[in-house]
Amino acid sequence: MRFDVFTLFPGMFVSPFAESMVKRAMDAGLVEMHLHNIRDYATDKHQITDDMAYGGGGGMVMKPEPIFNAVESVLGKQGGMGNGEGEDTNLSPSPFLLPPSTPIILMSPPGRTFTHAIALELAQHERLAFICGHYEGVDERVRQYLCTDEISIGNYVLTGGELPAMVIMDSVSRLIPGMLPPGIPENESHANGLLEYPHYTRPAEYRGWRVPDVLLNGNHAHIERWRREQSELRTQQRRGTSG
Ligand code: SAH
Repeated sequence: MRFDVFTLFPGMFVSPFAESMVKRAMDAGLVEMHLHNIRDYATDKHQITDDMAYGGGGGMVMKPEPIFNAVESVLGKQGGMGNGEGEDTNLSPSPFLLPPSTPIILMSPPGRTFTHAIALELAQHERLAFICGHYEGVDERVRQYLCTDEISIGNYVLTGGELPAMVIMDSVSRLIPGMLPPGIPENESHANGLLEYPHYTRPAEYRGWRVPDVLLNGNHAHIERWRREQSELRTQQRRGTSG
């Protein structure tokens, strides 16, 4: 699995992936992350990547040219969403663009909300590209004519798309065969519509709080049943459904 990340702040990605499981996956050659600084693709001498919004309003907007240049230099030309949704311009997708192969994902609060199902869907690809916005966001033409997908990690606003891209890369990486011991990804919360059952480890009694007896007696059928019941109970209590 190869990730290409387009960002103004590549340094943000170093530390989160310098430790733990994703680092091991990278060392093992299961995951590659390529960081591309959008600023390197600005063509003016000050390497400007943002500008004031047409129509006014407070924040700065990321300019389209450096982002298109960066993505097209790395991935070649591909078709964007080009769905023209809500559009009041006369632009249309270029007929010369190739059909999309690598998903080009815009990190964006109005995008589809990230879920385990989307992580599974993304894990089917060999390569994913992420565009991280900053400030007020990116020029709308990036969404319409360059990106093939638009994802939010939840209904709140962050300062940039870097953390959302890291969240998605982390969760997709866990699904790559070889990352986790067999059986684990299938049992986890959200994988089967149920939240996961509680886990315990030694000691069997801590501060007087005992691990449920069923887990100590080694009867696997009972353990399985207990875990299933706990999953259903938890899902019912916390999500209002039983899976
Ligand atoms: N003005 C925008 C918010 C801009 S936040 C709006 O109201 O929708 C700046 C950038 O951070 C965005 O372009 C996006 O790339 C990223 N971002 C912020 N919150 C996000 C979220 N919940 N999910 C995904 N990306 C997010």
